[in-house]
Amino acid sequence: MRPILKSNKLDDVCYEIRGPALQIARQMEEDGHKIIKLNIGNLAVFGFDPPDEIVRDMILNMQNSAGYTDSKGMFAPRKAIMHYTQEKNIRGVGIDDIYLGNGASELIVMAMQGLLNSGDEVLVPAPDYPLWTAAVSLAGGNPVHYVCDEQAGWLPDIDDMRKKITPNTRAIVVINPNNPTGALYSRDVLLEIVELARQHQLIVYADEIYDKTLYDGEEHVSLASLADDVLFVTLNGLSKNYRSCGYRAGWMVLSGEKRHAKDYIEGLNMLASMRLCANAPGQFAIQTALGGHQSIAHLVAPGGRLARQRDLAHQLLTDIPGVTCVKPKAALYMFPRLDPKIYPIADDQQFICELLSEEKVLLVQGTGFNWKTPDHFRLVFLPNSDDLTDACGRIARFLDGYRRR
Ligand code: PLP
Repeated sequence: MRPILKSNKLDDVCYEIRGPALQIARQMEEDGHKIIKLNIGNLAVFGFDPPDEIVRDMILNMQNSAGYTDSKGMFAPRKAIMHYTQEKNIRGVGIDDIYLGNGASELIVMAMQGLLNSGDEVLVPAPDYPLWTAAVSLAGGNPVHYVCDEQAGWLPDIDDMRKKITPNTRAIVVINPNNPTGALYSRDVLLEIVELARQHQLIVYADEIYDKTLYDGEEHVSLASLADDVLFVTLNGLSKNYRSCGYRAGWMVLSGEKRHAKDYIEGLNMLASMRLCANAPGQFAIQTALGGHQSIAHLVAPGGRLARQRDLAHQLLTDIPGVTCVKPKAALYMFPRLDPKIYPIADDQQFICELLSEEKVLLVQGTGFNWKTPDHFRLVFLPNSDDLTDACGRIARFLDGYRRR
């Protein structure tokens, strides 16, 4: 029989968060091992239940959710998002500028499919949430990575961004708050990015899905609030801020300079129509969530469960010799560095797999986030304090053995 091959569109596409180590972990679980999973930002499975009001309203609305909706989404949730953009000082957003999706993920892929031709370049952060790099590649474009500077608290290196702009650059992706680093960008940094976009007529994609997951009383500035003369595409959703990853409720908002984007917008509308609509129960959840008050605020406030777990994991990791880590200001992750002089890791995927088989702890290797050198990993600090303490103890023991090899 002729082998059935995957499309060569997928040749340059990778998404390591659910990569080989996860397959090994599944097999180990089938064999009866208990794995501590610090690999995926899936709040509900760690006991962070979604707000009651969302669950109740979704159940009540189930009866009304059986039909297709408008392909961009129902009016009421889009109206709630419109109000949300106003709260975030994003100006000039109408109902038609709002698209609902099955999570932000679907819309990220759609936004790239609608934009890119072969050879087009998109500036994507390194490290990044790897769906962005994958979505650019799948759409036939070239992801070009700008560096986020660990020494500067993982802020984007604007000079690097500038150097990497070419006549083929179409857009800049900004993930703020950032996954995997937990960085939160200041207004000044964001203004510099806007200025670059303005000078080079680039679209700015602002992935702001963690915009309420902020520690230490920090505030989030929406990129799209900073200019009216640049095209912004802002992505957000309920997955993280409302602990509802499984409801697959996300949105995308166009704002700023839309007049020159009529053709792109037509393309987006066609892609939205082709997938008919986002799931209707998730749309109802958006309306309830944004009209309510049970977001993640109490969990990230000082003393809240997430804030405590962030502090604990950071302390335990940075107590390990040769491990340094910028303390996250936001989101659910940290991205520690392993000093290469102490831990000469050649292949960080193999390193993660060895840790998994020896200590039953699952992490994701730094190169899975398009970080070039094998000297980082991402840790999700969602498991409870006991599990986090246990996991960090196992990581410390593994690293101790690694040092002595
Ligand atoms: N953007 C970032 C930065 C993320 O971390 C994630 C999920 O982890 C997503 C987008 C996808 O979110 P959704 O669940 O809405 O598809």
